[in-house]
Amino acid sequence: MPIITGRKNVLAVYEDAAKKGWVIPCICSENLTTTEAILMAASEFAAEKGYDRIPITLAITNQYDHRSQSVFYTHTRYWAVGLALFRASIEILAEVFPNVDILIHLDHAQHDTDADLLDSDLSMFSSVMYDASTLPMEENIRKTKAYVERKGDELLIEGACDEIVDATGEARCEITDADKCERYMRETGVDIVVANLGTEHRASGQDLHYYYDAARAIKAKIGPRICLHGTSSVSNDQIAKLFDDGICKVNIWTALERDSAPALTEWTVKNVAKCGGAKLEQKLIDEGYLTASSKTGDKTDLQHFTTAARQEIVFGEMKKIVRGYLDLWYK
Ligand SMILES: [Zn+2]
Repeated sequence: MPIITGRKNVLAVYEDAAKKGWVIPCICSENLTTTEAILMAASEFAAEKGYDRIPITLAITNQYDHRSQSVFYTHTRYWAVGLALFRASIEILAEVFPNVDILIHLDHAQHDTDADLLDSDLSMFSSVMYDASTLPMEENIRKTKAYVERKGDELLIEGACDEIVDATGEARCEITDADKCERYMRETGVDIVVANLGTEHRASGQDLHYYYDAARAIKAKIGPRICLHGTSSVSNDQIAKLFDDGICKVNIWTALERDSAPALTEWTVKNVAKCGGAKLEQKLIDEGYLTASSKTGDKTDLQHFTTAARQEIVFGEMKKIVRGYLDLWYK
């Protein structure tokens, strides 16, 4: 079965990864192009490195205030439609990539707005992040514990003892204390805990600092059961040895979108006449956005003006980004 579900099977994937010293990337997607780029990158990596199969986690957020990815998965902007399309696309693609063990994760599921979804049939998912991190600690523990009691037999549950800071906000959050993290895990019974280790969500740059020493202090208390969020905000060399720090899972999204956008933008500008026609090219020259020397006078061209052409650029870039993470964590 290329899609891994059921608590026992999922735990076996994590145990196997731990034996190899691998950190399983959990990559969010809000469109088919991203979903395919993740799977294709994983499949090509496995084939190239001579592995029979490798695990990868595909994830999606639902009614998460900061980014509701199921809503973006469909132009109807209905999350239930988006979730169904996400699920269907993975089920179909799983047949095409038999060398990839696919785990499906529901990320940042909100204890309040996603309550109905959280208590519905989650058999398509291998894990869920129960996100009550906006609540005070005691309330967070109480609600998370109750959820683990309801659903913990079915799938892996990830809890957050601290909120990961949002790059767009003013809020600052303490780096997670190891004792607090140990207490949270013991009292809630979650399988994996999200700690604030200095990274940020949705960051526009890679200039933050990842506190590996804080991670190691947590690892000493709870073992290698930490999930890291917000890795797009730090450079790859800082996160090359995550397994040693007790990280077993890394949730990623921003880097894929942020770092593929420049390639598409550059390609569009350099091919402006082929994408938008000579008239648009002249208009942009007249308005000062382009120079007269950049004028080609090219006609619009099917290989350039289609949605498929634009998606191909994004797909190729995203695949490279995912490959970068696999090279980093599957050694
Ligand atoms: Zn996150």
